[in-house]
Amino acid sequence: MLRWITAVLFLSRIGFPEVLIGLLPGAEGTVRLPRVAGLAFAMDVITSGKQVPAFDAYKHGVVDKVCGENVLEEAKVFANKVIGQPLGSRRLSGVDVKDAGSVDSLFEAALSLAKKKFRGQIAPIYCLKSVRNSAKMPFHKAAAEESKLIIELMTGSQSAALRYSFFAERSVPKWKLPCGATVNNTKPDIIRKTGVVGAGTMGSGIAVCLIQAGIPVILVEKDQKGNLSSLLSITVSQQISTTNAPADQYIWSLQLGTHFTGSSFCSCGFIFQRPPTSVKSWQMLEKAIKNISGILDGTVRVNRMTSKQKDQCMGILKGASTINELSDADLVIEAVYENLELKRQVFSQLDQVCKASTVLCSNTSTLDIDKIASATKRPEKVVGTHFFSPAYIMRLLENVYGTKTSPTTVATVMELGRRIGKVTVLVKSCHGFVANRTHLCFGAELKCCVLFLCSYVKGIDVGWRIRQEVAKSAGLTLTPETRYLNGERVSTLGDSLYEKGRYGIKTGKGWYKYDPSNPRKPVPDSDVEDIITRHCARMGLQRQNIPPKEVIDRCLYAAINESFRVLEERVAEKPQDIDVIWQYGFSFPRYAGGPLYFASQVGLKKVFEKVCYFHEKFPYSSHWVPSDLLRKLASHSVEIPMDQWTEFLSCSKL
Ligand code: NAD
Repeated sequence: MLRWITAVLFLSRIGFPEVLIGLLPGAEGTVRLPRVAGLAFAMDVITSGKQVPAFDAYKHGVVDKVCGENVLEEAKVFANKVIGQPLGSRRLSGVDVKDAGSVDSLFEAALSLAKKKFRGQIAPIYCLKSVRNSAKMPFHKAAAEESKLIIELMTGSQSAALRYSFFAERSVPKWKLPCGATVNNTKPDIIRKTGVVGAGTMGSGIAVCLIQAGIPVILVEKDQKGNLSSLLSITVSQQISTTNAPADQYIWSLQLGTHFTGSSFCSCGFIFQRPPTSVKSWQMLEKAIKNISGILDGTVRVNRMTSKQKDQCMGILKGASTINELSDADLVIEAVYENLELKRQVFSQLDQVCKASTVLCSNTSTLDIDKIASATKRPEKVVGTHFFSPAYIMRLLENVYGTKTSPTTVATVMELGRRIGKVTVLVKSCHGFVANRTHLCFGAELKCCVLFLCSYVKGIDVGWRIRQEVAKSAGLTLTPETRYLNGERVSTLGDSLYEKGRYGIKTGKGWYKYDPSNPRKPVPDSDVEDIITRHCARMGLQRQNIPPKEVIDRCLYAAINESFRVLEERVAEKPQDIDVIWQYGFSFPRYAGGPLYFASQVGLKKVFEKVCYFHEKFPYSSHWVPSDLLRKLASHSVEIPMDQWTEFLSCSKL
């Protein structure tokens, strides 16, 4: 039983990734590592699956030598030095765990942390148990126990789902279009400079994603009247002074565009120039840039970036209040309000200003990409890039192609997603695309149950705008009293919150209230209970208790049925795309796979029966009309594997 003799390159990272697919390092990893590096290190590394830098591994005795770039030569010298030396001291079967005396307290602390951090997952708990065994049992006994534990994990449902998730995530970048274009046969455009229009929640977050990846951004915010022709220009510069003068003490510079020759003051490290117009725009832009700077400060605080890197990021960010500044951009992402006319107006302006090769992207959550693209003379260059909020945290990017979007444009935004470190899924345009379309069904059921565990980050105003747009396109006016839209039941409870200015975190209250010192922590608010009671009275609704299991089933099966429809309409290419969207967009547990993986485990016959049951019970909700594809798959006497589901869309298998 030898411990490793290893020499590794200084840039290497070392870890036990098994837990990430629901396993433990079952080739005696949980028994050996504590003997080499101690319990605390072993518990941390094995339960998290994280990779530690080579020098940390060396410090803990996991590797014998960290080499420079000439790793082969150094390793040979090292090997020659140790050849022939006695091996006794390296036999781990004879070595005790150094901190075995504190095993119980270390185990309890690690267990309570793991339960919080990896909520619902069993593999990290098994890892801890196995490491504890290694301190309490002789080597061979602990190793035998480890084997039993890994067999349990390997045959369990969580590991199966995590292995599915592992491959599903790797399958989504391999996009293909109905025309036959694929990731392998299409070259993306090269993107050097970008623009973002709208410096609100999403625009600022998207700018962070881009500058963190080293991609220069010009961030455009409108002026007071929504007019983009203002001459204001804010230049972010590396020439930092520390003046912290309040806004009204800044000296105004009448220099236009990016030429900076006048007097200037700096705040938060940026040089601002402003003409005496567009005060509102200037304030909004200043706020956005301060916000971006604050986000990056947070990244520095958690050691994910150095101060120097932060300054470099800020150095490639420039603010502007005119789209004219985007003439040179290779790609522009629009993130203005969710309003079709406004977006069409912005795209038409972009089309006139930007060079012919510029790719024009919309961050719309729901709107038809074709309708936005038709405001331009380059629909083949128009595409959806749907980021999730907060854009700099959420790893999902849902890229949306319209009927005229070219393969090159698709390749460009898929490559951009890869460059900025997103899990990027390609889908076809339809109302709400895949993420919001399937999630809206989930949310609709949830609101009908009036158990509002809704997303608290997403702005309630965004939902309001989406509903207004849907109503408008149907020629209707939506009020909180509306019960049916297009013959379908809707819940306007969110609109009652909107009426009270409760938009979510951004206004300090939404479904919950938020303490500004800890805005991520939602605090239940009795005012919301009052709003619900009044809303129900206004609508003449009788509130009733619905068992939690029914709430979960209704929400989940509504999303599953809609997911099958999405497949049926080829909005998503494969089930994995939808599951990955749910994992990264809505935190669906990876160890449960996703709504469609879940359905495959339940069995499609049972899923179909349940959907039919709810359809009968709630005939007014069109999302309960059973999907045709689901019906076909469920009618087979044998369960059809997920990979073959979409083959049933072709005539031969109908
Ligand atoms: P927001 O209200 O926070 O920001 C919109 C910004 O656009 C505002 O700062 C506004 O001043 C600016 N703006 C408006 N008209 C403009 C114009 N003509 N030119 C330049 N700037 C203009 O909204 P948001 O939440 O960031 O949403 C923006 C888009 O992103 C919407 O399409 C929304 O549906 C989508 N989206 C939002 C979320 C979310 O959770 N907030 C998630 C995904 C997608």
